[in-house]
Amino acid sequence: MGLIQDTLDVVRKRDANEPEFLQAVTEVFESIEPAIQRHKKYRDANILLRIVEPERVVMFRVPWQDDKGQFRVNRGYRIQMNSAIGPYKGGLRFHPTVNLGILKFLAFEQVFKNSLTTLPMGGGKGGSDFDPKGRSDHEVMRFCQSFMIELCRHIGADTDVPAGDIGVGGREIGYLYGQYKRIANEFTGVLTGKSVSWGGSLIRPEATGYGCVYFALEMLKTRGDSLEGRICAVSGSGNAAQYTVEKLIQVGAKPVTMSDSNGFIYDKEGIDAERLEWIKDLKNVRRGRIKEYAEKFGAKYVEGQRPWLVDCHCAFPCATQNEISGEEANRLISGGCFLVSEASNMPSEPEAIHLFTNKKILYGPGKAANAGGVATSGLEMTQNAMRLPWSREEVDRRLRDIMATIHKNAWETAIEYDRPGNLVVGANIVGFVKVADAMLEQGLV
Ligand code: NDP
Repeated sequence: MGLIQDTLDVVRKRDANEPEFLQAVTEVFESIEPAIQRHKKYRDANILLRIVEPERVVMFRVPWQDDKGQFRVNRGYRIQMNSAIGPYKGGLRFHPTVNLGILKFLAFEQVFKNSLTTLPMGGGKGGSDFDPKGRSDHEVMRFCQSFMIELCRHIGADTDVPAGDIGVGGREIGYLYGQYKRIANEFTGVLTGKSVSWGGSLIRPEATGYGCVYFALEMLKTRGDSLEGRICAVSGSGNAAQYTVEKLIQVGAKPVTMSDSNGFIYDKEGIDAERLEWIKDLKNVRRGRIKEYAEKFGAKYVEGQRPWLVDCHCAFPCATQNEISGEEANRLISGGCFLVSEASNMPSEPEAIHLFTNKKILYGPGKAANAGGVATSGLEMTQNAMRLPWSREEVDRRLRDIMATIHKNAWETAIEYDRPGNLVVGANIVGFVKVADAMLEQGLV
């Protein structure tokens, strides 16, 4: 369609050095084409060109001192992408690969994901090219404090509410929150992912992984199927991966792989609850490498590869973007995989997505399948505003309901736009329409 291609041409020219951002924008724009064609109001208002431009981008210097007293400098960012339906909301990523294009892709995805949750949250993302790996707790604390000295000017409980992402877990959120509180002299819900004893929500650490499995169960329900006895390949071994594996075990599935950036382990007996606890301690406390699992339990370790070589029924990417290539998608399908539920953001390359949708396997794109994390952050914001915590059961019930609603809305919208079963089209259109309509109603924003 002319307008979509014209807008993509502008973005390609303007943001030529941001390949991940271009990839995310292309995927969304191509899949919402039926909605743009059906509704003249979006074309008249040139909404595509407006939605693709961040409302605000902040970049800043983060100076800090390492344990040897050496001066170091990293680059900090916050992308405030869209506040049409609520305060900016989205995680902070600390990883050496972080740059403007990666954070813009994540912020762009976040806008549609947050809209899908049905909660009033706009989209944002931030972070730094700081690498917490191998750094002492003191170094991480000093970095977080320096990062917050600048970030605090741009956030607030009703303005922008960051959370964790890769490299930002409970430890980092604690240091960031402590520094914010010292500077602002107020105790508000300015970050989510906090500890339960000081304003966090039960189930928030579990939410991305649990939500991704709940989404898989919703997809399976449409075929009268379940996860019972299903062999599952999982990538990553951080927050999203750990709780995906935990829920898979609870629902009777058999997770057989986990990974980190060095390689993957294959435990053909299945990773059980006891071994998962060992992994949590390895990753969250000792901060070791996944290879040690193979040494400890006699499982297989494959250096430098991703888990998609293994025969499985279901795949749960939980590590990072572009972690399933077209070739790997082919391998997954020929190895018997009929379901992919994405906990990580944009893990499948475009050729992989085309293959999954063309072969009509059950495919849950990240912005739908991993929305449980931010949805539960939204529930944390609600509890903070009420100053009343909910029970574990209450939050889990709400999380399940939200995942079921996201699936239902995406499923029904795909049918409405003549793409039955295509949750990429369904989820993107549901997410887009709500934000675009809010922008139209708010005038020239
Ligand atoms: P963590 O930092 O807890 O874990 C990340 C995991 O992915 C680690 O095992 C890490 O290995 C691996 N990894 C990171 N980068 C790469 C890479 N370039 N190649 C291979 N492996 C890599 O992060 P999360 O679990 O929180 O996040 C994982 C994914 O889930 C991300 O895409 C994130 O955006 C997404 N997500 C997370 C949410 C959350 O609530 N935490 C919410 C929604 C989405 P290593 O230790 O070697 O770096």
